[in-house]
Amino acid sequence: MDNAIWTDLLAQTKAVHSASPALQSFCNFPTDLKAQAVAPYHIHASDLFQGDTALNTQHYGALHGAFVNAAPLAKWRETYKDTDIGQDFMDRFGCYCLIGEGGAYASAQMLAYLVYMPPHLHYPWHDHPAEEIYFVVAGEAEFHRHAEPSQTLCAGDTSFHASSQPHAMTTHDHPVLALVLWRNGFDTGPKLTT
Ligand code: FE
Repeated sequence: MDNAIWTDLLAQTKAVHSASPALQSFCNFPTDLKAQAVAPYHIHASDLFQGDTALNTQHYGALHGAFVNAAPLAKWRETYKDTDIGQDFMDRFGCYCLIGEGGAYASAQMLAYLVYMPPHLHYPWHDHPAEEIYFVVAGEAEFHRHAEPSQTLCAGDTSFHASSQPHAMTTHDHPVLALVLWRNGFDTGPKLTT
């Protein structure tokens, strides 16, 4: 049962990737995927995500549904637990991996994970060596990139972040669900930009 849920999420992710020129040019879908066991880890943001009806849109509904189905099985991340980011962010910011450490699949070519933010949340400036692309699956958010103008992005829009380029994100009246891909430099996780 668990395997079918992960297999479906992988298939929906691959379908969206193959239909998006921006994602395709970012990197090819991995050819070296290996299934691995997931140790589920629950955080409050998982409940917020699963109950967030504002994400039920006509765009990418199959991928959204597959992310929801896998949410109870996922190892939700607490990337910023030992920082001064604050309890509200820890309670409401959601992220889990599909391809990569803690995810249902491993690859040396690409990482893939979900980011969810409910309305009125700010993800402060952060950076990492890996290059990154956000693909908005549902909702909308204001994306901030160092040395570039801020942009409000909706379903189907993408935001590219160069290696070590600080970036941040703010939700206003809407939540946001994004598929996030990484290429190059998987060994170092994100850190808050100082
Ligand atoms: Fe990032």
